[in-house]
Amino acid sequence: MTYLAKIGELTLKGSNIKEFENLLKHNAAKYIEGLGCNITLRAGRLYIDCDESAAQRVEFMLSHLIGITGWAKAAVCEKTIEDINRTVFEIAKKEAERGCKTFKIDARRSDKNFPLNSYQICCEAAGDVEAIMKVDVHKPDTILYVEVRERVFVFADSNIGCRGLPVGSSGKGLLLLSGGLDSPVAGYRMLRRGMKIECCYFHSYPYTSEEAKQKVVDLAQKLAYYGITTYLNVIPFTEVQMRIKERAPDSWSTLMLRVCMMKLANRLARRCNAKCIITGESVGQVASQTIENMTVTEHFAEFPLLRPLCGMDKEEIIRDSYFIGTYDISILPYEDCCVLFSPRHPVLRATSEEAEKIYSSLEVEQLIDKAYKEREIIKLSVYCAPTKKTV
Ligand code: ATP
Ligand code: MG
Repeated sequence: MTYLAKIGELTLKGSNIKEFENLLKHNAAKYIEGLGCNITLRAGRLYIDCDESAAQRVEFMLSHLIGITGWAKAAVCEKTIEDINRTVFEIAKKEAERGCKTFKIDARRSDKNFPLNSYQICCEAAGDVEAIMKVDVHKPDTILYVEVRERVFVFADSNIGCRGLPVGSSGKGLLLLSGGLDSPVAGYRMLRRGMKIECCYFHSYPYTSEEAKQKVVDLAQKLAYYGITTYLNVIPFTEVQMRIKERAPDSWSTLMLRVCMMKLANRLARRCNAKCIITGESVGQVASQTIENMTVTEHFAEFPLLRPLCGMDKEEIIRDSYFIGTYDISILPYEDCCVLFSPRHPVLRATSEEAEKIYSSLEVEQLIDKAYKEREIIKLSVYCAPTKKTV
């Protein structure tokens, strides 16, 4: 059987398009290693030939592969207009069944020996379909594709793809991944910009439970479905957090927590060769996310601090989290460390100068160093159980 995927943004790339295409193909192959599938890339399409037994894995791949706009199982038919018409009609019936009311046909003929040109194929194939759907060439509910090559493929791109750029084309970012709704979506958004992701979670055991940590492992696993592999660094954060509690003014505790997270993130980013740090912050969402306080956090970051959700509202974030399958995990009730230690009246308009002063009064460097060294690293990849190692 043959699957076809349409390549999106890549077609906009100029001279280095080959590099992007090869990466996309390489990424696709990772999902289906060892299954004997054949992947080819031609004229903005990815073709996957596989046996029935590999179909489930191929479909999993196509619904997670970043860099394609849509995909479908293609019907392969005889190189005669009668068989093309019959096949187009079969697929059109399925599209009508899933609620499509209008259609257009997009035919391409790269085999110039075929007696009809693309326009003629369109007219021929549309004939029967018009009995069940209306033609709309501008905004159809579905497009039925006919491609006459060495074989004839007929398909409708009925499944949406993740779009974006192939993972790995934009270097690596360190994602601060908490158990909430936001940071997994932030990670996914950067994966879609072609970035590989390494994750980092600050764990304050026993204030945050084993379940809270497991939740983050599960979220990282979901991200690995899109990113192919990711590492989750679990940093023991209790001692740092206790020091903040003891020495920082209560109103500053959340912001100091962010500052210490940034200090650790800097070290980790350097070590794993990340080019930026990513968080799930969104302007104005909570007290620590006023633009002034975000400026303070940024002041302590030694890498560009990317906040892909900064202009999104909660509803948009939730929509994404449904799409990537993290919603159900994120809403599990286990508290995260910030909630447990949040001050009643957090500072809303902090300055970097004040933050520097308070940070140095914490004398927390040694604890930060210890936390960094005691981190646990969990490797997560598509189809593999998590493996653990400590540094
Ligand atoms: P999220 O839904 O991602 O938890 P949030 O709206 O709860 O975000 P905060 O708790 O203020 O907001 O966290 C802001 C960002 O800081 C998070 O999106 C995440 O990137 C990072 N962060 C917060 N807590 C942790 C943690 N324990 N470990 C790793 N990163 C964290
Ligand atoms: Mg949170």
